[in-house]
Amino acid sequence: MNYDEDKIDEYTLALLYLVTHDRQEGFGARAWKGFDWDTMNRLYEKGYISNPIGKAKSIAMTEEGFLKSEELFERHFLKKIQPIPFPKMTPPAKKRWDEIPEQMRKKILENVWCSKCLTMVKLQLREGRMSGRSLVLKGVCNTCGGEAARVIEPVEE
Ligand SMILES: [Zn+2]
Repeated sequence: MNYDEDKIDEYTLALLYLVTHDRQEGFGARAWKGFDWDTMNRLYEKGYISNPIGKAKSIAMTEEGFLKSEELFERHFLKKIQPIPFPKMTPPAKKRWDEIPEQMRKKILENVWCSKCLTMVKLQLREGRMSGRSLVLKGVCNTCGGEAARVIEPVEE
């Protein structure tokens, strides 16, 4: 069988992210090692994990290995959310939104609280409407796809 070892390494390292535990910021993590032996050996040689030889059921991941694993996992396995190029906005909402400078609009959409991720995330804007004098922006979290919203208070004159 002729296969692309680098690709196997890449996907295995990405999948290792699913079985990591004992993550220590700056010091890597540990991961279960039930993967193909030759692949694990190559990942060891590439400096991503500790030597897989031994009785322990898990291996240590270097900081570099963990970060790479996280990055590859997100690249290969995260569900892609279809961006909506033109969000549905009521005319008054659109008018209010357009009054905000583009830099600010970008900032606003990049700092929306997601109650699922429990952090500030990027909002994929889907719709906007006015609620009283406030602009209500609704969309989905760019990270988890869950619904999120942001209210823009009226500017005091
Ligand atoms: Zn989220």
